[in-house]
Amino acid sequence: MILQLKKTISQADREAVRAKLLLLGFKATEVHTQAGIYWVVVGKKSVDLRQLGHLPGIADIHQVSDDYQLVSRKWKVNRTIVDLGDGITVGEGTLSIMAGPCSIESESQAQQTIDHLKAQGVRIMRGGVFKPRSSPYAFRGLGIEGLRMWHALAKKAGIKIVSEVMQVSQIADMHDYVDIFQVGARNSQNFNLLDELGKVDKAVMIKRGISGTVEELLYSAEYVFAAGNEKIIVCERGIRTYERASRNTMDINAIPLLKEKTHLPVVADPSHGIGIREFVEPIALAAIMAGADGLIFETHQKPEEAYSDGQQTLNFAESEALVQKARKTYALRESF
Ligand code: PEP
Ligand code: MN
Repeated sequence: MILQLKKTISQADREAVRAKLLLLGFKATEVHTQAGIYWVVVGKKSVDLRQLGHLPGIADIHQVSDDYQLVSRKWKVNRTIVDLGDGITVGEGTLSIMAGPCSIESESQAQQTIDHLKAQGVRIMRGGVFKPRSSPYAFRGLGIEGLRMWHALAKKAGIKIVSEVMQVSQIADMHDYVDIFQVGARNSQNFNLLDELGKVDKAVMIKRGISGTVEELLYSAEYVFAAGNEKIIVCERGIRTYERASRNTMDINAIPLLKEKTHLPVVADPSHGIGIREFVEPIALAAIMAGADGLIFETHQKPEEAYSDGQQTLNFAESEALVQKARKTYALRESF
């Protein structure tokens, strides 16, 4: 159950609500976000809402039958739109395209990508500076210096940045240089990281874990919300199955399922989802038809020379073609 408190609730009224809940045998967790004050109330018994609704200071009460609460669509009919500023939003009403290299490699590469994205009207650039690599000997990113360099170029061009944060200590260093903190598949259930991202006023995009279920992804989002940050995007990026013909198995099913279960924006990552350059486009378009609010994909001026994930990275001509087809596909879907 979620109680939405009025922002003006007095301390005495707050205590009265808490006492009443205790009396009824419930445990309440108070959540303060950018948008409001919520009490997430859990307990074994069911409650007659009339016993609470009349208490002063309560704006609304919602019974939520899901175990995750704040990210559930059961209480919030209006979908969340994540506002990145400067007229750039992620969520209902627009198709958000986030594109860029797997890793930021150099100033020249970042600038070429920015020029390419600008020409397509793409306003969010992806790129890793802290890279989770299977091998410790592989390129692991340019780090915070690379992020600062990239940010200076992107800011000049009016482009927003989404980049992966791998550990709590990086949050403060990255904070002023990213618009969306990306939580990678390998960190999808790093609950300490999620808790800390709940304390920042920046958007957070959580990727589904490599072997994570849809429900686990929603619980990860619940962590961020419960810690105080409502600006959350969830991302389907493929899961590991017995199939070896593709890098991962893009779970298109998850997209309508997530849209049904949560009010948060849902984006799709076809690059990691299939891992094969020539099939990124059909999977991206399928994800849009399935209801995705956006795409995040990898592009590079010379994918064959990319420091990481070149095999699934589109060149700029392929990226341009995908952006055009993605927009047409989205318009078709919206026309239904
Ligand atoms: C990435 O976006 O480059 C990445 C490492 O993604 P994932 O966490 O989905 O593997
Ligand atoms: Mn990658």
